[in-house]
Amino acid sequence: MSISQNLQKIRSFLDPFKTKLIAVSKTYPADIILEAYNSGQTDFGENKVQELMSKYEVLPKNIQWHLIGHLQSNKIKYIAPFIHLIHSVDSFKLLKEINKEAKKNNRIINCLLQIHIAQEETKFGFSEEELFITIQSEELKDMKNIQILGLMGMASNTENESQIKKEFQHIQQLFNQIKSSYQNDRIKMEELSIGMSSDYKLACESGSTMVRVGSAIFGSRNYL
Ligand SMILES: *Cc1c(COP(=O)(O)O)cnc(C)c1O
Repeated sequence: MSISQNLQKIRSFLDPFKTKLIAVSKTYPADIILEAYNSGQTDFGENKVQELMSKYEVLPKNIQWHLIGHLQSNKIKYIAPFIHLIHSVDSFKLLKEINKEAKKNNRIINCLLQIHIAQEETKFGFSEEELFITIQSEELKDMKNIQILGLMGMASNTENESQIKKEFQHIQQLFNQIKSSYQNDRIKMEELSIGMSSDYKLACESGSTMVRVGSAIFGSRNYL
């Protein structure tokens, strides 16, 4: 199937009033991204700053770019002028640095806090304990150039659907808890970024507002 057919198939499953499709274009060249763009896709996700920058430079400027991979403090400055949403904020220190760079650019940068929900040790993200320390921090109140818009998580890489469901329900419960009890000027719970090619349908059952889908749109990636 073509990219536009893949996009159409996924969009037909999603409720457009609830869940936005972020096309994960990592490893794919700009001309392939343009093909998706020409089929009406305007939100794209990348996991590396350098790759995102080189695509940003050549692609249409009304694309909304999402950073979904681990971000190093020294690279924030490159994306700060234009990034639409950073899904992968995984430490308080990073939040502080994003605030600093956002201020230099006279912007408010939207962020999601990445929560570690998978069984695997290797995935980045806040633990539940770190999450609650962060959102209750006094220092956060003064970070006027960031807006925490929600949470992001990656489920375990497993065929076990009940495990994946359990992990999605866990992050959904954290999302709802923060939404009902911890919102303030810095924290507005609007987005729950869960679900990838293999599990976006399950994620929608757990209230996903953003699915990050790559290979189901563009085909499988070659890592060289
Ligand atoms: C690569 C990636 C995705 C998309 O993965 P697919 O399985 O290709 O849909 C989603 N989220 C993150 C954080 C990723 O790195």
